Amino acid sequence: MATGVSISQEQAENEESESAVVTARRQLERAAALLDLDPNVIERLKHPQRVERVSLPLERDDGTVEVFTGYRAQHDSVRGPFKGGLRYHPEVNEEECVGLSMWMTWKCAVMDLPFGGAKGGVVVNPKLLSQNEKERLTRRFAQELRSVIGPMHDIPAPDMGTDAETMGWFMDAYSMQEGETTPGVVTGKPPVIGGSYGREEAPGRSVAIVTREACKYYSQPLDETTIAVQGFGSVGANAARLLDEWGANVVAASDVNGAIYDPDGLDTEAIKSHGEEPAAVTGFSGTEALSNEELLTLDVDVLIPAAVGNVLTESNAGDVSASMIVEGANGPTTSTADSIFERRDVPVIPDILANAGGVTVSYFEWLQDINRRGWSLERVNEELEAEMLSAWTSVINAYESEDEISWRDAAYVVGLKRIVEAHESRGLWP
Ligand code: GLU
Repeated sequence: MATGVSISQEQAENEESESAVVTARRQLERAAALLDLDPNVIERLKHPQRVERVSLPLERDDGTVEVFTGYRAQHDSVRGPFKGGLRYHPEVNEEECVGLSMWMTWKCAVMDLPFGGAKGGVVVNPKLLSQNEKERLTRRFAQELRSVIGPMHDIPAPDMGTDAETMGWFMDAYSMQEGETTPGVVTGKPPVIGGSYGREEAPGRSVAIVTREACKYYSQPLDETTIAVQGFGSVGANAARLLDEWGANVVAASDVNGAIYDPDGLDTEAIKSHGEEPAAVTGFSGTEALSNEELLTLDVDVLIPAAVGNVLTESNAGDVSASMIVEGANGPTTSTADSIFERRDVPVIPDILANAGGVTVSYFEWLQDINRRGWSLERVNEELEAEMLSAWTSVINAYESEDEISWRDAAYVVGLKRIVEAHESRGLWP
């Protein structure tokens, strides 16, 4: 294989550490089997178009130089420029970037956005960098990736460990090198330099919209719905607060230190999100303390895993008591856990639909940048609502048109059909 990414037997069997690319390829194969799709195109989709690996020398504040590794995986661009986040995390690796880039391809296609999929990152613990070090590392990363990105080619965005400030530095470094201000090279920037209102809140907002609609689908009144949210970062906190505002009862939330529980409902506005004050959830008084693992198995109507990947696995899927799962994080459910939920009839509303509000508002941001014309927050939220409802309707139609398919398969069916048709129309060249 061109990129050297392969699924080893050992990895495939070691469910707890299943890499994103293993999960993503299994999901692709499953969905392809449901559809009568050209196997040659499916074969192409198992491989990323390109993976860029760069070395990033960073001068630390004490004058020493440390070299970090960065990646950008570009999976497929048949429907438009590559699109996807950049994460700063010690566990970033090539396989993870490839798997996450595949999910971005499907996510953009489910939402019918004119983008393909990419993902990248730096192998670094951002908490161990000073603000100045993080800025220097980001500027160097932008410079090293300059030949493979661009507003019509590949458009990065925030992900784990990166934020609007990081995107501002990235956009500035790229623009300085190009000699012209190029806001469309990244999304998720601060609004003052071409960012979109509502972008930061968007992934959580889409999780909330999809949760509300899925409750409606299952005739579960939102004001009688109890919800547990794992992770209180941008996705988890925004989803929890909106669902709370819309009448649901958010009874549990967690961060890296553990979880809190109140059967009468948490004051989601008062609990600090990771961005407001890191790791502050367990410091919130007047609630019962739980472990993260206990939160995952709480008897609630909806469980929203919104932290990291691979938290619902073979070892805990049988103990999950929630009646429905809505994936806020990317890849929180391993393939075996997915099969267990299917056997147990627990619907899992997949990440590629539920958290797709982030990339959808990124698309709105990109449109604002290339048109040099900003949108109001009201317009962003109205258009996001419309895009989410339209994608949800397409996924319901796929779900209902096949016998016994999961919501994940239904979302794949919607996205894959669009991607495969685009590949067939364009053909293989040369
Ligand atoms: N990192 C986000 C995701 O996983 C957003 C990507 C983007 O906006 O391009 O969907």
